[in-house]
Amino acid sequence: MQIRDRYAPSPTGLQHIGGIRTALFNYLFAKSRGGQFILRLEDTDRTRFDLSFVQNLYDTFEWLGIKWDEGPDVGGPVGPYIQSERFELYKKYAAELIAKDKAYYCFCSAERLDKIREEREKALAEGSSGSHETGYDRHCRGIGAAEAAERVKTGEAYTIRLKIPLGESTKFHDHLLGDIEWKNDDMNPDPVLLKSDGFPTYHLANIVDDHLMGITHVLRAQEWLSSTPLHVIMYAAFGWEHPEYCHLPMVMGQDGKKLSKRHGATSIDEFRRQGYIPEALLNYVALLGASYEEGKDIYTLDELAARFSLDKLNKAPAIFDYKKLEWYNGQYIRMKSDAELAELCLPYAIEAGLFGNAGDTSASGNAPSQGEILSPGEVPSPGKAPSQGEVPSPEQRRIFTAAMPLIKERLVFLHEAAEKLGYLFSEPPVPAAEEFIPKKADLPQAVSLLRQGRDLVKPLAEAADDAGAEAFIKEWAEKNGVKLGDLMMPLRVAITGARVSPPLFGSLRILGADKALARVDRALAAL
Ligand code: GLU
Ligand code: ZN
Repeated sequence: MQIRDRYAPSPTGLQHIGGIRTALFNYLFAKSRGGQFILRLEDTDRTRFDLSFVQNLYDTFEWLGIKWDEGPDVGGPVGPYIQSERFELYKKYAAELIAKDKAYYCFCSAERLDKIREEREKALAEGSSGSHETGYDRHCRGIGAAEAAERVKTGEAYTIRLKIPLGESTKFHDHLLGDIEWKNDDMNPDPVLLKSDGFPTYHLANIVDDHLMGITHVLRAQEWLSSTPLHVIMYAAFGWEHPEYCHLPMVMGQDGKKLSKRHGATSIDEFRRQGYIPEALLNYVALLGASYEEGKDIYTLDELAARFSLDKLNKAPAIFDYKKLEWYNGQYIRMKSDAELAELCLPYAIEAGLFGNAGDTSASGNAPSQGEILSPGEVPSPGKAPSQGEVPSPEQRRIFTAAMPLIKERLVFLHEAAEKLGYLFSEPPVPAAEEFIPKKADLPQAVSLLRQGRDLVKPLAEAADDAGAEAFIKEWAEKNGVKLGDLMMPLRVAITGARVSPPLFGSLRILGADKALARVDRALAAL
């Protein structure tokens, strides 16, 4: 069978973890079976629609490196792939269901519907209702075809509702959840398929499109499970075969509640701003509700596609572990070459003003703090113009790349490079005197140690590598009866402006002897 599946987002919000998990699983499933992955925009809800969300969708998937085989932007044989461009089709199919007596015209006013909803809810709450039903009362279901046609002709407003067969139950198989059976009488009574303005509802547009687009498998979040019986009834009403279903386990926070802003970042924009690498995010998301190989954590997209199968999905909800995601990011950072990592960190460093602030100093006051939600398009991204801060000079660029080995092992987020490497690009202020004093020592001793350290700056800065520098300073310390730690500590503070810093020897090599000596002299003068 030629597999075809789809990601069918409604552009009513930013792309978030749940959405990209659905997209990724569909992508991997299609790739694992040599099938096609399709993007379809379900923009039937015009009140919540916003073009910026469409842009956010494209930006997100471009950043993640996930491509669809067919979609609004790339086209394909069964387009258009945007539902708002298919409205005539849905009308035609709604009319077909009317003709088949599987749907009917409802002429109820909004006021009437509100009133009966209220009444039914009240009755339900008081337990005085014989029925457990809420929602529509099937008022228009009994109107004869001729009368209904006449009323439509005279211009009366109407919606089209599905005629759910009563007294039956609907069965379908879910790949993960097994056989599912719903009593039709328990379903939302006769849901609207076509609204009075001629727009389709989600249910109608979704199944007409899945059918016309030849979708063989529907992999979607479990929150859609309750719509599926309805969809199965509609397929039967049309006389179509329904796709295979697999409802994906929910994504939860550590507290077992549905993942939401309360738990941390959920929109992909936020993760991107926080300095995540797309491969790390994809790798982690691919494991949300699926297990592949024992003992293997790191997978490329191709490796995932080679291993993915519906049988590897877990029934239990997936717990989103931010710490684990951080771990992945660190792993991916360490896999990058220095040049690649510098390229990735650069937009964040520019934005942070590492290479100097842009002329307008007020701009830095507007700098969004980490974790703040930005409107789409405000995301720093490689290759795009930074929002503030100067671009590096060629020399700064060289230093930045050369400094990557100093931080690579401990970097968790791309934006941290700027904080960690600030001392290489501007002289740090000389710290307070006590910062220079090693344990069990006093200020005169610290000054004397720093003087001794000064003599070592040139040979250390000119050493070929860390091993050379280390051998040299160790030997010197031994010969002169000084503790290595005591010797290095004041020197580190003078050079980097902090007790805790990236490795000293590498820093000295990058700064060069002249700049390093100037810093030591400045510190000595201050002490
Ligand atoms: N438009 C729906 C959504 O926003 C699609 C659900 C489905 O996959 O059927 O997720
Ligand atoms: Zn009605």
